[in-house]
Amino acid sequence: MFFIRVCVKKGLTPCGFRYFCGMDIEIITIGDELLIGQTIDTNSVYLAQVLAPMGLNISRKTAIKDQKDAIIGSLNESFKRVDFVILTGGLGPTNDDITKSVLQSYFQCGSRIDESVLEHLRLIFKNRGPELFEINKMQATLPDCCKTLFNSQGTAPGMWFMKEGKYLAAMPGVPGEVRAITEESLIPILAPLFKLPPALHRTLSTALIPESIIAQKLQNFESTLNGCGLAYLPSHNVVKLRLSRKNPELSEQKFKAYWQQLIETLGDWIFCEDDLSMSEWLLNLTLDKNLTFATAESCTGGYIGNQIVQLSGASQAYLGTVTAYHNNIKEEVLGVKKSTLNSHGAVSSETALEMVEGLCRLFRADIGIATTGIAGPSGGTADKPVGTIFIAIKFRDKISVKQYTLRGGRLDFMIRAMNTAMKQLKEMI
Ligand code: ATP
Ligand code: MG
Repeated sequence: MFFIRVCVKKGLTPCGFRYFCGMDIEIITIGDELLIGQTIDTNSVYLAQVLAPMGLNISRKTAIKDQKDAIIGSLNESFKRVDFVILTGGLGPTNDDITKSVLQSYFQCGSRIDESVLEHLRLIFKNRGPELFEINKMQATLPDCCKTLFNSQGTAPGMWFMKEGKYLAAMPGVPGEVRAITEESLIPILAPLFKLPPALHRTLSTALIPESIIAQKLQNFESTLNGCGLAYLPSHNVVKLRLSRKNPELSEQKFKAYWQQLIETLGDWIFCEDDLSMSEWLLNLTLDKNLTFATAESCTGGYIGNQIVQLSGASQAYLGTVTAYHNNIKEEVLGVKKSTLNSHGAVSSETALEMVEGLCRLFRADIGIATTGIAGPSGGTADKPVGTIFIAIKFRDKISVKQYTLRGGRLDFMIRAMNTAMKQLKEMI
């Protein structure tokens, strides 16, 4: 029913003859820290990821100060454009957290104590002194015109307001709490309320092919797309391509046909047909093929290994890393010859080769990945400028050593190094 109302309001038919007739929603993130660059707004990224598949499209995100006028002004503006707004931040018990009192006056209602929140707080604070409890007890006091969105991960509950066809979900700022409230309390309310066509999208990735070259290859494909959109998401030598259904009238079958056409057009330019990070791709590959792998990292300093161990199940395939930053470690642990280091330098294909050989000897790994390079900003020379990297990969008895020049600061360099190494590995396997 809601779906029909939204479409009609926009002068459209329920069948959605405009490009997309899903439901637009807005997110308002509150917090001075978001505006001074102290905190990156990950809440709205997360919310977009979970809500878009339900057909709730984020049409605008606004970040504002912890300030009454800013909150009210922003809500008024958003509610002129959409009927559903999600707001995060400023619900804590400290003086800088004013969202709850502002919402109470915005919706012109009184307050109530929520016994279930009080009980939850008692459990959390049962081992702490009464003073702390008093300030948190205020957190169980909520506007009496809202429904409580239970927060299993923290002390500040979320709130759900409905007034004259407008809906507002307010949540604290802590990302883990936003996730818990959204999954445990908000989605169960939204699912039956907004019966919207589910979003359909799929993502694939390419590696080491410039975005502009991909765009040229896909020019004809893109011109035939009707009711679907293709988004380019480039980052660190990887371009992800996301195909999304824009018109809910487009059948799943037609969407699959477009996807297939995209796959065929790109052919072997595709690195991976799923939306995986490089570390997920590597771990999946090695687990599927029952292979072990290890890393010898000079210029990446353990970055590749660190990405891997963030994944559960890593221990079944990943053996470990040698952070061979200093030449002594390259020599003493990995067995790189002194003469190699002296005559070719630490950043050379000869050193990378001996690093990967030593690594696989040491770990008895099926796959070895070694990096040696100049991350910069200093240390470059005329024939080996900043950004130069040699990557050596050993897969059983095959070895490939390649030289690249990678752009960016030190972290960018490491991310690109990892992505580049994965592409090199894929070519070998
Ligand atoms: P608390 O009870 O912790 O005070 P709160 O609702 O008052 O919760 P804030 O004080 O606004 O939330 O923020 C709490 C923490 O969450 C801070 O560390 C803040 O930097 C972080 N945070 C706030 N908003 C966001 C956001 N949009 N994305 C990521 N982190 C955020
Ligand atoms: Mg706070």
